[in-house]
Amino acid sequence: MTWRATVLTLYPEMFPGVLGLSLAGKALGEGKWELAPIDIRSFATDKHRSVDDTPAGGGAGMVMRADMAAAAIDAGRADAAPGTPTLYMSPRGKPLTQNRTRELAEGPGVLVLCGRFEGVDERVLEARDIEEVSIGDYVLSGGELAAQVLIDACVRILPGVTGNEVSLDEESFSSGLLEYPHYTRPREWEGRAIPEVLLSGDHGKIAKWRREKAESLTKARHPDLWQKHGKQKS
Ligand code: SAH
Repeated sequence: MTWRATVLTLYPEMFPGVLGLSLAGKALGEGKWELAPIDIRSFATDKHRSVDDTPAGGGAGMVMRADMAAAAIDAGRADAAPGTPTLYMSPRGKPLTQNRTRELAEGPGVLVLCGRFEGVDERVLEARDIEEVSIGDYVLSGGELAAQVLIDACVRILPGVTGNEVSLDEESFSSGLLEYPHYTRPREWEGRAIPEVLLSGDHGKIAKWRREKAESLTKARHPDLWQKHGKQKS
């Protein structure tokens, strides 16, 4: 069965967006994954097709109505493969990690609700067993970009999407470390040479150099990850 991303959004025309180009776009064209945007507005019941309303208790902005969000979710679920998790992109969510991305990529797909305005009525999140996922500690104007980030991260690790599977094992986070630095031609550029060891042809030495670089980078830039890595090894 093909991995499928169903996206519930007020802006279906934002899809495929960046997912229509390069690696993800090529794989989409080849049928290696499927994308199904669903317009939340098509579940509106009044003639203005409104799906949002003012927040109970007052305050700025608008909130997506529970009944319309739920109708969209239920329609999406009816169409999605059994076991497909329902996610709500939200700055309050659990931060997305490579581990979670891998789990999602190994499953049948994702059903993603994109918020707009101030977000969605809390009751729908409770009633539909929804996992809130954040892509970082900042606030976007809508969930569509966040959904594209999540889907891109999943699609690139689907079997047969990235040609060179080995590169996936070595990249940042997979080994619990950030990745080592890369170099290519020219051999010397603006007075900077490629580290000698990389030109030595000695694969053992190269692997050792890369491991050391990955460790020192992780230690300096991502102390949390470095600590976790140390614990895993001991
Ligand atoms: N009032 C909310 C922010 C709403 S932003 C709050 O303060 O928490 C509007 C929509 O953008 C959200 O419903 C969510 O779907 C999306 N969004 C914004 N920031 C995000 C982030 N960091 N990660 C994932 N989705 C985000």
